[in-house]
Amino acid sequence: MHTLDDNLSHVLSRMQAAAGRVGRSLDELKLIAVSKKQSAAAMRELFAAGQRAFGESYLQEALDKQQELSDLAIEWHFIGPIQSNKTRAIAEHFSWVHSVDRHKIAQRLNDQRPEHLPPLNICLQINIDQETTKSGVLAEDLPALAEAVSKLPRLRLRGLMAIPAPRDDYDGQLAAFAELRKLLEELQGQLKDAPLDSLSMGMSGDLEAAIAAGATMVRVGTDLFGARD
Ligand SMILES: *Cc1c(COP(=O)(O)O)cnc(C)c1O
Repeated sequence: MHTLDDNLSHVLSRMQAAAGRVGRSLDELKLIAVSKKQSAAAMRELFAAGQRAFGESYLQEALDKQQELSDLAIEWHFIGPIQSNKTRAIAEHFSWVHSVDRHKIAQRLNDQRPEHLPPLNICLQINIDQETTKSGVLAEDLPALAEAVSKLPRLRLRGLMAIPAPRDDYDGQLAAFAELRKLLEELQGQLKDAPLDSLSMGMSGDLEAAIAAGATMVRVGTDLFGARD
């Protein structure tokens, strides 16, 4: 049985090794601890080990844990599917949202972001493998969505997120992540004034390939906390 402290060190050294192989450094990467279905106590332990950014997929669960952990300076990331009736609480209680894939949701987050908070950081979620069951905007619809989102003053469009279909081979993983990076580069050309500096990609099983392809944020759950129920 490994402690969360050990797990965190292990994930950070995997990230460092992956970055080093392509001439990048750990400083360019943010680790997001995906704490969905994990206890507030486990999160507190990981925070004590030095982890600051946490990602949640289920709003009510996240709000409950935010209450319990309100004494900790956590940076909260929302990474799950977003229904319209959840946007107000998301706009009020998170610093980042990685899973915006339609204009209506972006508009609501913009309108509901409280004035006393800085603009909400946004990644647009791309359906990179064009899977009919997955959330995310299709690549062909990205330019129009990004253009609209970049004009919303209470949002800050930072980049792209994707959850590629699972692949066992490193080269296949790399190809999917490289596709996302290419989309970000195209967007940087299209929207010259937007602060497009973020690629949220890579999870427990494929973070090495994601970092090789240019990830700036990796979202890791299982390899930090252990299996979810
Ligand atoms: C659950 C989840 C993760 C973490 O996946 P692991 O394989 O447990 O590391 C990352 N991103 C999103 C969007 C998730 O829902």
